[in-house]
Amino acid sequence: MALVVRRSARISSSIQVTQIPSTSSTTTLAEEITKPRKRKRSTLSIADEPVLDGVASASSSSIISPGVQTAEKHIAVKTRKRNHVRPVTASLEDYPSRAVNDWKIGAHVSAAGGVENAIHNAAAVGANAFALFLKSQRKWLSPDVTDESVKLFKSRMQEFNYSPRHVLPHGSYLINLGNPDLEKREKSFECFLDDLQRCEKLGLMLYNFHPGSTVGAATRDESIKHIADCLNRAHKLTTNVVTVIENMAGAGNIIGSKFTEIASIIEQVEDKARVGVCLDTCHMFAAGYDIRTKEVYESSISLFDEEIGLSYLRGMHLNDSKTPLGSKKDRHENIGLGHIDLRAFSHIVTDPRLKDIPLILETPIFDSPSVWKKEIEILNRLSLIRSADVEVGVEDAGDGESDVVFEEMVREVKEEVAVFAAKKEAKAGKAGKKKRKKAEREDEGEDGSCDEPL
Ligand SMILES: [Zn+2]
Ligand SMILES: [Zn+2]
Repeated sequence: MALVVRRSARISSSIQVTQIPSTSSTTTLAEEITKPRKRKRSTLSIADEPVLDGVASASSSSIISPGVQTAEKHIAVKTRKRNHVRPVTASLEDYPSRAVNDWKIGAHVSAAGGVENAIHNAAAVGANAFALFLKSQRKWLSPDVTDESVKLFKSRMQEFNYSPRHVLPHGSYLINLGNPDLEKREKSFECFLDDLQRCEKLGLMLYNFHPGSTVGAATRDESIKHIADCLNRAHKLTTNVVTVIENMAGAGNIIGSKFTEIASIIEQVEDKARVGVCLDTCHMFAAGYDIRTKEVYESSISLFDEEIGLSYLRGMHLNDSKTPLGSKKDRHENIGLGHIDLRAFSHIVTDPRLKDIPLILETPIFDSPSVWKKEIEILNRLSLIRSADVEVGVEDAGDGESDVVFEEMVREVKEEVAVFAAKKEAKAGKAGKKKRKKAEREDEGEDGSCDEPL
């Protein structure tokens, strides 16, 4: 696949995505930009698109970005839950071509109906990386992953060209390895270990989790020691999966909002090759680490490097924030629509230190993954435009032209969100209070904000 940036019309349709043999992924951005356009024509008409999976539930004109003209086809069967569908026979060419980009942008997609379905859901939104829950994130016990699921997951990873390096499973919200209560901590540990074993069965190498909480019953140092002890035990009971600690927003007793707390956990981990960090932009912003201007972004990343070490950074969660800097609140917002600003994300998706790690959206989607599809497309476009600007010597964002580009991108996200937010509101209005509450609960996690552990 190759990606061609048409600079002459870069605001309205900057990116053309087309499929060419995958060996081209080693070409440079400059080569990609100058390559002649070769587009694979699809015989599918818009009317052929099945209306399934939320992705295709909008009119095609609103979900296919201006420059991406590959038709989509989602072959799926509906399961009992209304918004959950199980794709069965779709193959790579049934999905939109993915951007060729060294920054691996994706989303935390649904694994409803089996972990193997996450791969279809990632492909459907054009994701080059993805996150998933390996089991119900709100239950202590879940049925084992079946051999059939493992087989399908592995074969689809190959078929859809996803590398385990770019898959970042997210741990259960119930897990609290910092709990001073031994019995409760052991229950968490079992659930944690079970997740790691699932990763290994699926051939995955990263596992992202929330460090934990003192629950108000221990000092922070005591909880940090419990977390590190659990990691050491888990590393001995598994072979190679890397336990990736997520930074937190800083509410109450939760560990991990300060880089120094994460560093203390790592310091006590015996096998340093088995531990990493996932940096959530909403959480770091809420915890007081500013990334809005290039200057403050650089100093926050330098601080991370100084206090933890960039070599530990194994992934990021790209979320804007509904609340201001230092609010300590964990409220995810769509890219460009919150307090962080789209410019901050442009620093990330052009930072050479952040290449080749999963960059995962956990933003609200209002029942429609096509919101992620739009955000992924915008971030890829931003990444390629800004990288190209840097290559040809156009300096940092802030000049008039850049402002227009940013404003236009924010408008596109806003429009996409507005369509589905209105649809969801109308649906919730019809469905009574009880149902509305249930829908809100289901939203948290995959696309909302993170919970405080028990
Ligand atoms: Zn969060
Ligand atoms: Zn998280």
